[in-house]
Amino acid sequence: MVIDVESFRQKARTWLAEHGPEYADFKQGDRRLAKKFRADLWDAGLLGITLDKAYGGQGLTDAHQKAFSEEASAYRLPPMGEAVTTGICAPTLLDFGSEDQKARHVPAMVRGDETWTQLLSEPNAGSDLAGLQTKAVRDGDEYVITGQKVWTSGAMESQFALCVARTDASLPKHQGLSMFIVALDLPGVTIRPLTQMTGDAHFNEVFLDEVRIPAENLVGGENNGWRALTAMLTHERLALGAGTGAGGSGASWAASASSQFIELARRKGLDTDPVVRQELVELYIAERVLRYMGQKMRDEISAGINVGSKGSVAKLATALLSKRSASLGMALVGPGSAAWDPADDNGSAYADTLTFSPMQAIAGGTSEIQKNTIGERVLGLPREPSVDRDIPFNQVMQN
Ligand SMILES: Cc1cc2nc3c(=O)[nH]c(=O)nc-3n(C[C@H](O)[C@H](O)[C@H](O)COP(=O)(O)OP(=O)(O)OC[C@H]3O[C@@H](n4cnc5c(N)ncnc54)[C@H](O)[C@@H]3O)c2cc1C
Repeated sequence: MVIDVESFRQKARTWLAEHGPEYADFKQGDRRLAKKFRADLWDAGLLGITLDKAYGGQGLTDAHQKAFSEEASAYRLPPMGEAVTTGICAPTLLDFGSEDQKARHVPAMVRGDETWTQLLSEPNAGSDLAGLQTKAVRDGDEYVITGQKVWTSGAMESQFALCVARTDASLPKHQGLSMFIVALDLPGVTIRPLTQMTGDAHFNEVFLDEVRIPAENLVGGENNGWRALTAMLTHERLALGAGTGAGGSGASWAASASSQFIELARRKGLDTDPVVRQELVELYIAERVLRYMGQKMRDEISAGINVGSKGSVAKLATALLSKRSASLGMALVGPGSAAWDPADDNGSAYADTLTFSPMQAIAGGTSEIQKNTIGERVLGLPREPSVDRDIPFNQVMQN
């Protein structure tokens, strides 16, 4: 029998009252506690609320999800998912994976037992992803993958990746690609961290040297990789811009700096400065608009409406907002934001936010590429010229 919404709300309330306070001191980046939280929530039947029962979810309605989210909003809790694993890879597997692939991986992804990454970008293929050169050659019951990937977020902490490789170079570039599940502990996989300007090493270069994977790891059929990839990028833009994902909770989406800045301006006596007030109001409005836009897209998806490339609008808006909000934070804090007291544990927070903020304008497709996508697929403007679109890939000049 299906649990009704009010009983489910009560169940969530009871669980949260007992376990919620345990996470009050959660610090961003505490992966151990974040994993424990998701596992506990899943085991209590409160995660994957709308996810199909066949994949370990509760198979309940959006109203159940909404009831849970309302109850959870009273607590400070770790995220309910990871942007890449549950926001991008799990929805892509749900769209294109075989029943075996979905049953094997999706529950583990949502519960937090498996962390995934995306092996897409290469030194010569970023915005022009269809030009990627990593190849996968069928050999009996296996594919052999060879190539180099780069900017792979979180590869060091991940167990699996969705990898796109070329299976037929005699076809035009979009047509000869395939998507695969690759376990990152296989022989031939080398992962090297890249230090970014924040000082962290969040992404990596990944070398694939004749990596042998079972043929059943093909996702969505041979030479169908561009379709799967396009769907994956749509999920990525929605996850980054509108907080969608298989965990069902808008995990990665948190554009809400303005309330913190208003408080900061008050403390610094800047809340009467007309220029600061104007900036704060504009930031607040932009956050609200983005929040409603994200909510609308999540509601449309729940209602089975294909939002298509509209995720690019939310992704572009998120990129603009995060840059603006990082700059305002620096301006409000003043010189201390760039030259902080070493004794202050939180001293680098504003500089970290500023140096991290350009990532929104690059990851998942740059802002220029989002503008192209919006122009072509949302506004119906003419396509950008492409000279190599219809030529067999092995006849296109490389590098
Ligand atoms: C934080 C972060 C995490 C990432 N994580 C991953 C990951 O996990 N997996 C992965 O595969 N990749 C990842 N990436 C890579 C990301 O997808 C690429 O960096 C991005 O697509 C741009 O590709 P590129 O760096 O090769 O730049 P290029 O494509 O070389 O672009 C260089 C510049 O040219 C502009 N440009 C290119 N083509 C056009 C065009 N047609 N019209 C107008 N302007 C254009 C771009 O906007 C950009 O300003 C990540 C990147 C970042 C910053």
